[in-house]
Amino acid sequence: EVRVRFAPSPTGNLHVGGARTALFNYLFARSKGGKFILRIEDTDLERSTKKSEEAVIRDLSWLGLEWDEGPDVGGDFGPYRQSERNSLYRNYCDKLLEDGRAYRCFCSNEELEEMKEIAKLKQLPPVYTGKWSTATEKEIEEQLEKGTPYTYRFRVPKEGSVKINDLIRGEVSWSLDTLGDFVILRSNGQPVYNFCVTVDDANMRISHVIRAEEHLPNTLRQALIYNALGFSMPSFAHVSLILAPDRSKLSKRHGATSVGQFREMGYLPQAMVNYLALLGWGDGTENEFFTIDQLVEKFSIERVNKSGAIFDSTKLRWMNGQHLRSLPADKLVNILGQQWKTAGILLESEGMFVEEATELLKDGIDLIADSDSALKNLLAYPLHSTLASAEGKPIYEDKLADVAASLISAYDSGELREALEEGKAGWQKWVKSFGKALKRKGKSLFMPLRVLLTGKLHGPEMGGSIALLYEAGKSGVVGPEVG
Ligand code: GLU
Repeated sequence: EVRVRFAPSPTGNLHVGGARTALFNYLFARSKGGKFILRIEDTDLERSTKKSEEAVIRDLSWLGLEWDEGPDVGGDFGPYRQSERNSLYRNYCDKLLEDGRAYRCFCSNEELEEMKEIAKLKQLPPVYTGKWSTATEKEIEEQLEKGTPYTYRFRVPKEGSVKINDLIRGEVSWSLDTLGDFVILRSNGQPVYNFCVTVDDANMRISHVIRAEEHLPNTLRQALIYNALGFSMPSFAHVSLILAPDRSKLSKRHGATSVGQFREMGYLPQAMVNYLALLGWGDGTENEFFTIDQLVEKFSIERVNKSGAIFDSTKLRWMNGQHLRSLPADKLVNILGQQWKTAGILLESEGMFVEEATELLKDGIDLIADSDSALKNLLAYPLHSTLASAEGKPIYEDKLADVAASLISAYDSGELREALEEGKAGWQKWVKSFGKALKRKGKSLFMPLRVLLTGKLHGPEMGGSIALLYEAGKSGVVGPEVG
């Protein structure tokens, strides 16, 4: 049975890297009909917080990555918080001690520092020398009687190598020459990360460990522990790093990097999931738009890329626009209507005006929050003031003087207003005869009209804008934020 886990340390927010790891695990589990497990790795008691655990759970849920077993939903292999599994780690530690695969080390911190200094002078790797690995029963008894604090160290085989077949990176092997005996239980009784992970992955029957590349050195240590405890090893897949556009490690200075930040900015979870999946994975075609169900159907771990993936927030934004526009029409109207009302731009969150404005503006909106300025810009079209001052502006005097003069007279005579009574169709009819009289058409007609009517060079489709604007003026849908 396929059983995979996402194992965050609750020491901060869920970052895009972690979220992608969670997603790949989720997709792998769902595509294989297996189980996706959430395990909270809170052995670092000083840095772990309940608040962070809650935030991680909230963000994973928001992304829609539902887990089958975890601290909140339970399961047959719990508890799912490492801090609640101490006795289990203790027992396995004792077993290693009995089997001679681990031993007590009574070195003080000063002694260990000194060891490092000496190694440095000799230009050797700064590893533990194995001082207590050969101690006699008597020497150990003496220290125990004195009450000297001690750690448990894992006895690393003196020679040989460890090899894994990584599902993404192929064969990875390490020679054991430079690996010192490492601590598995601290003197305060706290088990060390690598030890807990191995015990947990084995006891939770994890079949595949999919995690970040930076854990490769841990995999070596964990492989040794698997062997020593007689556990069979899971398969491993180490996913490459997520990089900033300049190929440096992605960090805060590159802008938003946590899932919570994107949620607060109004990103859609489905866009986030789609984009995260593309960080190192593709289905082999040009297609980049996937729903989560499509991802489950297409995902394969073999297609995950070995090299680093670049996090491009511009592309994520674009992707959000794609997902926004693919929402059912009424849903998008609903979202934007709410947004506009909440922002105080409109008085009502529904109705004809909202529907038309959505239709008109949606192509220019990638983020829901963009819709505020889109609608505000439209409603602030300086229809009257631009016209009134048109003659005074050099730009109009020059090439657009004929258009400006005719427009002002069409406006003053009420002809334009009358046409707009028939909405967009009325506008179209009017603009045609207007152009004819001026002997202008296409761009040479529409560009000056746009500039004169809206004061801008670009914007949504003119007919719709003007008709909508006219409607807004008449029906009083405009809220306090526009005035
Ligand atoms: N708790 C580890 C981390 O947050 C994950 C370890 C693992 O996946 O094995 O980096």
